Amino acid sequence: NCKNADDVLKAVRENDISFIQFWFTDVLGTLKSFQVTPSELEEAFEEGMGFDGSSIEGFSRIHESDMVAFPDPTSFQAVSWRPTDRPVARMFCDIKRPDGTPYEGDGRYVLKKLINKAAEKGYSYYVGPELEFFLFENSREPKTLDFGGYFDAPPLDLANDIRRDIIFSLNKMGIQVEYSHHEVAPSQHEIDLRYQEALKMADTAVTYKVIVKEVARKHGVYATFMPKPIFGENGSGMHVHQSLFKNGKNAFFDTKDEYGLSETGKQYIAGLLRHAPELTAVTNQWVNSYKRLVPGYEAPVYGAWARRNRSALLRVPMYKPGKEAATRVELRSPDPACNPYLAFAVMLAAGLKGIEEGYTLEDPVEADIFEMNDQERADRGIENLPGSLHEAVAAMEDSELLKEALGEHIFTKFIENKKIEWDNYRTQVTNYEIEKYLPVL
Ligand code: GLU
Ligand code: MG
Ligand code: MG
Repeated sequence: NCKNADDVLKAVRENDISFIQFWFTDVLGTLKSFQVTPSELEEAFEEGMGFDGSSIEGFSRIHESDMVAFPDPTSFQAVSWRPTDRPVARMFCDIKRPDGTPYEGDGRYVLKKLINKAAEKGYSYYVGPELEFFLFENSREPKTLDFGGYFDAPPLDLANDIRRDIIFSLNKMGIQVEYSHHEVAPSQHEIDLRYQEALKMADTAVTYKVIVKEVARKHGVYATFMPKPIFGENGSGMHVHQSLFKNGKNAFFDTKDEYGLSETGKQYIAGLLRHAPELTAVTNQWVNSYKRLVPGYEAPVYGAWARRNRSALLRVPMYKPGKEAATRVELRSPDPACNPYLAFAVMLAAGLKGIEEGYTLEDPVEADIFEMNDQERADRGIENLPGSLHEAVAAMEDSELLKEALGEHIFTKFIENKKIEWDNYRTQVTNYEIEKYLPVL
């Protein structure tokens, strides 16, 4: 565990590291990487490594394209999927302008800004995401490997060895796994990570996705975080468990409350609930994301909170005596194809807003919301999440909260990018239309 540049230089020498990968993500969360040789490393720590920002999605325009990547020594790790002889390591980078000021197109910077804002109020932000994924025969068609379902064991679960290798690989990179299992849909899986501080967890989520894909590739199969690859089956979510800690104590917890929640916890949840439609474009950023957010597949469609009910947007797991630190709220809408830096940032922004403004939290909804009709939902004040990328972007565009949280640059770039994506999709003629309309019209 390196603390500074000297620690890293020493670790590189002692472990005969051959290359150091410098990692960052573009605005959509796609991993970008370049390799630095050990001889360049010392200078890279001091002066950063320059690159062309105009070739990165959502970064700068052509006339101000010089960007500099500064590696974060605390993120130094040998990568587990490369050879053990002359190993390769990686570090996450902070992106700066040539004059040394932080670049506001950098998602890591945006998340840090929100984390600092929480810290000013004395809070540390912890998250635990559950990233689900599918294993398919290849990347061209969603051909499943097994017929397994929730918690199935072999012989129904054919991916035991793959999951085992993924977990070993995660452990090798210092990532702690809580449990893993076959998920509801055929060939769908989940490996749950132990919760940690949000910036570290966003880095970890990026690493997790690379490891899952690399290990699957070694087994000759394809792993995907596409939100809804198969019509009629559950999609892949990234539920995010969240809590704030103050002075080392869980700030969401209160024994005297009937739900075990403190006022702070309730206000945070109320913030997520109220602002959920505005932040959905970030947590569910693809056209395909909205094929998952439909009734009947354990993914949320309506804004409500509950303790047991998995059709709700937010769930507060029941309190277990002695487990105060585990008090948390689970947001069930995000999918694993989001940019985790931006997703965690906007969730925290919404929760903090609830605390700042002292929002009140209505009673939980324990009935199955999917079974209610429009009137029943309206009577209980239950709102719909956006039904498409188009609706989500429209809700985001009107949001002061999102603009402030993401900063003008990412806010504008993101919306621009997503409007183009929607337009490309909207003008397609799909197989569904050919099959449905051609024979009858
Ligand atoms: N796969 C479901 C989703 O789309 C979630 C299943 C679960 O509760 O873990 O969110
Ligand atoms: Mg799950
Ligand atoms: Mg869950």
